[in-house]
Amino acid sequence: MEVPSPHIDFSLTQSCNYSCSYCHASKEIPKEKFSLKYLLEVIGTGTQRWTITLSGGEPMIHPDFINICGELTKNHMIRINSNWTRLDVAAKFIRNINPKNVLIMDLSLHIEERIKKNGLESFINSVLELQKAGFKTQVNYVLHPELLARVDDDIAYCTSRGITLVPKRFKGVHNNKTYPEAYEESVKHYMEEYNHSSLNLTDYNFQGIRCNAGIDLFKIKSNGDVYRCPGDQTAAGFLGNINAGTFKPLTTPLPCQVGKCPCWGPQNVILDTEESHLLKGLNAYLKGEQLEAEKEWHSALLLNPKSFHALNNLSVLSAYKQDWIQATKLSAAAYKIRSTDICIQNNKKMILRNDETNLMISKVINPRLSNRGEASKLNLRIAKNNFTKKIFQNHLFKKLFNTPVTIKLLKLIRERR
Ligand code: SF4
Ligand code: SF4
Repeated sequence: MEVPSPHIDFSLTQSCNYSCSYCHASKEIPKEKFSLKYLLEVIGTGTQRWTITLSGGEPMIHPDFINICGELTKNHMIRINSNWTRLDVAAKFIRNINPKNVLIMDLSLHIEERIKKNGLESFINSVLELQKAGFKTQVNYVLHPELLARVDDDIAYCTSRGITLVPKRFKGVHNNKTYPEAYEESVKHYMEEYNHSSLNLTDYNFQGIRCNAGIDLFKIKSNGDVYRCPGDQTAAGFLGNINAGTFKPLTTPLPCQVGKCPCWGPQNVILDTEESHLLKGLNAYLKGEQLEAEKEWHSALLLNPKSFHALNNLSVLSAYKQDWIQATKLSAAAYKIRSTDICIQNNKKMILRNDETNLMISKVINPRLSNRGEASKLNLRIAKNNFTKKIFQNHLFKKLFNTPVTIKLLKLIRERR
């Protein structure tokens, strides 16, 4: 979901009271302390309203959780990422915190742990209570491979109790298989039916583009270290420590330094008009809105007739529509401008061959960059995993692996014939 700027992503603790098989959160009792006073000084008590996402580990096990929520919501909004297991703390939260100052309660139902602890009913009742008190909630369910046999029953049961589950992809290795790539096609419908928006999220590449992260966006770790954003926790993105009083926000937007933006880049990067159209087009494309994507890429082309990203992407859309004459014309135009780009080279060849399974759309976010090495790795990976045979994986592919330069149109075109 979009989180309004300015925004802080704050991990209150690395510890958790649960032991989900797909997570390595520490079981230690949280010892982390931080200077709430200093944080409040930084974000201020003036008219600017920040959104602070409190996450972990498990934020509710932080001994100061209610006080922190109370202090922050005096002048700001909070968003909570929690397993919602500490029902004693949950009851205090409902009593003490004004739902108007809570953007959303992002809650996770970790069913295996819930069942072990006999806590499913209490979880459901507490979420219903939250909703009744006026809090906006989302209940997430991780599609761990071990849970796939029971997910239908869990969804049906929770629905019957008035809770909609939002399936989330499991990212990790299980039985020597890497997920989400290893999901079977049959898993796809969960994402489409219940979590359509997450199908279309993507990691972006804004490297080199100026970003307001470090001014309007921060990541605070449980030890007080502050970084400009969750995606850039490198030494270069380090802004000091909130407990030591050494934290200094940036005063001017700096170029993004990392090749993958997993978070709130689209809301924080400073794009020119052409780039904005390219980005809007890509987002529309990822949502399956091809007409909108076409409109945006045409707008980019109007502004810059040499926009090889727009030309390339429009050529792919033409191929998708099987207008091979137009596709050939556009891909040749893109090639004429940027013949060195591997994506453009490949598309030109493929369009000439009418090879509809392999067309690629440029990762157009950053026209100043082209990550060819990654694109090649990507293609090898696709070949290896035989992505073209699995539509579900197509979606995952778009979502997960289009970071560097490309996403691929897969056999959907062939199926339309
Ligand atoms: S509840 Fe969340 S943080 Fe805790 S172990 Fe499970 S996945 Fe990890
Ligand atoms: S574009 Fe994304 S990763 Fe880069 S600095 Fe901005 S928020 Fe961070």
